[in-house]
Amino acid sequence: MNTTLPAAGLDRLTAQVDLGAIAHNTAVVARHAPSAALMAVLKGDAYGHGALPVARAVLAGGATEIGVTTVDEAIALREDGVTVPLLSWLGTAGYERAIDADVRLGASSPRQLANIVAAARAVGRPAVVHVKVDTGLNRNGVSAHEWAETRDALVAAERAGHVRLQGVFTHLAHGDEPEHPFLDVQRDVLAATVADARAHGLTPTQVHAANSAASLTRPDLHFDLVRPGIALYGGVPVPDRDFGLRPAMTFAAPVILIKRIARGDGVSYGHTWIAPRDTVVGLVPAGYADGVWRPLSGRFEVAIGGRRFPQVGRVCMDQFVIDLGPDGGGVSEGDTAVLFGDAPGADRAADWADTLGTIDYEVFTGVRGRAVRTYAGRP
Ligand SMILES: *Cc1c(COP(=O)(O)O)cnc(C)c1O
Repeated sequence: MNTTLPAAGLDRLTAQVDLGAIAHNTAVVARHAPSAALMAVLKGDAYGHGALPVARAVLAGGATEIGVTTVDEAIALREDGVTVPLLSWLGTAGYERAIDADVRLGASSPRQLANIVAAARAVGRPAVVHVKVDTGLNRNGVSAHEWAETRDALVAAERAGHVRLQGVFTHLAHGDEPEHPFLDVQRDVLAATVADARAHGLTPTQVHAANSAASLTRPDLHFDLVRPGIALYGGVPVPDRDFGLRPAMTFAAPVILIKRIARGDGVSYGHTWIAPRDTVVGLVPAGYADGVWRPLSGRFEVAIGGRRFPQVGRVCMDQFVIDLGPDGGGVSEGDTAVLFGDAPGADRAADWADTLGTIDYEVFTGVRGRAVRTYAGRP
């Protein structure tokens, strides 16, 4: 089903977010991981889709909890009335506020754990902790040489009543390559770490490892909880695999000016595109200040009423030009040009990412500037 944008209607650059698509995508992931709880990852303002409306949509779609990076992101959701369990796994500031707001905390080292314990003492309530184990990503997480110290500190902190160890988790280095042998290595290191924690009297109830890709492709990595992000937004979790996810964000703008130009005329700064024939061009008010990356210049097409038209010349800060062809392509001023998203003939954010040498995560979170976010669809 498409969000089919009206041929005419938008009056400015818009990132329209379909909350029904987000709820649908959440349900798709949940169906792939039926035995696990589902923690929707809403970091980075829900990958640029807006954390609060997305929270409502993922919960409607079957998510049972929400994960974010910083304590501030978690507390903003709490203050907006989100009552489900929240985990902040990279928060290192604001522990006291987190404990006070019933936000669970990730710990990646004995130092972080000590700070969490100090905050719990100050607040007078135990902190609920998920210890993050570095099983080979070598980014955050407790490294192997600090595990024993961390485990012993967890045991002591639980005895003293400052901490409850609820979760043990890790993050995958090759999540988007379902056949990669390193997934097995990380799974086994995580399982061995959990076994060691249990042998020392700890009783974690939530073991988790799977991002979107592993949630959709690797049941052996589901454990108690899955942590999908990109799939919820209808991105591409695994290249060349179709899971029936629907793009949630449609980035679109009106064509605000149409003009005729002659064969040989140059378009936009530097005249990097010279019209090969008399033609009609259209102006779209979106530029690199809004997340239309300048390296896309001359390398993408927009969709208008289901037809595709090439972008020509340099993308500027605020605007770019499209070639409508000698007959004007049937396009009128005020028609909606879809840059990417859920509309007939439109690119997906992943197409931009391929052209740019990045991933759709960065395209989504790069939408900014004058782009106005709107919401459609029922969660
Ligand atoms: C971002 C993130 C996720 C979600 O990853 P996707 O690939 O977007 O599904 C899960 N866990 C952690 C720790 C993350 O940082």
